[in-house]
Amino acid sequence: MLIVMDQKATTEEIKAVVASIEQRGYTARPIPGGERVSIGVLNNIGPVDASYFLGLPGVKDAIPVTRPYKLVSREFKPEDTVIQVGNVPIGNAQLTIIAGPCAVESESQALTIADHVQKGGAQLFRGGAFKPRTSPYSFQGLGKEGLKILSRVRESTGMPVVTEVMDFETFDLVEEYADVIQIGTRNMQNFTLLRRAGRSEKPILLKRGMAATIDEWLMAAEYIMEGGNSQVILCERGVRTFVHHSRNTLDLSAIPVVLKESHLPIIVDPSHAAGRRDQVIPLSRAAVAVGAHGLIVEVHHAPEKALSDGAQSLYPDQFSMLCRQIRSIFDNLKRS
Ligand code: PEP
Ligand code: MN
Repeated sequence: MLIVMDQKATTEEIKAVVASIEQRGYTARPIPGGERVSIGVLNNIGPVDASYFLGLPGVKDAIPVTRPYKLVSREFKPEDTVIQVGNVPIGNAQLTIIAGPCAVESESQALTIADHVQKGGAQLFRGGAFKPRTSPYSFQGLGKEGLKILSRVRESTGMPVVTEVMDFETFDLVEEYADVIQIGTRNMQNFTLLRRAGRSEKPILLKRGMAATIDEWLMAAEYIMEGGNSQVILCERGVRTFVHHSRNTLDLSAIPVVLKESHLPIIVDPSHAAGRRDQVIPLSRAAVAVGAHGLIVEVHHAPEKALSDGAQSLYPDQFSMLCRQIRSIFDNLKRS
């Protein structure tokens, strides 16, 4: 249930409603909105009786929530959430571009690519220090050394950095260095990790599980928000299907569904969806056209030498072209 407070409700009235919710054994979660405060009622088993709250001073309405996810839903918060990473906003009327290599391989590799993507139009830098690889014999990432290199990229370019956390044990370490913490497709339902992310003060980029429904994905985001972290960025990165012409199938139809269901920002990863360079630019154009708030794209200055995902990494000049094209699509849509 969502209790909508009157525009003129006082702080005391809000506190009294919170107390009344808690007295009944539920959890109260105030959600400040543009015009008024709403209070979410969580942890109820079965429906909540609206009459408990409707008579309290300052209460305008009590609306039953029909979705299994609460805090992530538009029923709880109608306005788009905008997440501020340094001075880069993500969500609502923005188009935010994150780019960089799949993995941080060395300081010179990361700095070279950072320079290229910044010139091309990226606002945030990506790079994995802890890499979830299908084969245990593949490059696993530089670990802590990779995180330190990311700090140097931030210092030298001013771009905030996005990097993946793979497990609970290394969460504190990744949290110390990252500006945005990525939870990858393989960990979307790692509930221990989601709960830890819920206690973080850093924004979380939550990728969709490669076989997850939209409901499961939004419930994973709910775990993070329920823990107290409201800064969640959703990322569609393709789902597993029967096709062989791409690594995964980018589920473009998920974007309008998520935009309708949730107030959270949603971005698209065309690189892991495609698995091959020639599809990345067309998928990026499509992602922006269906309403994504941004992209996360793999770029490498020498993809043939990349230690991971070279086949899907764009050359820097391709990335610059991608940025020009999607900005123009975005600006056109905004004007119309
Ligand atoms: C990545 O972004 O480096 C990555 C491993 O992505 P995903 O979890 O989507 O496969
Ligand atoms: Mn990759």
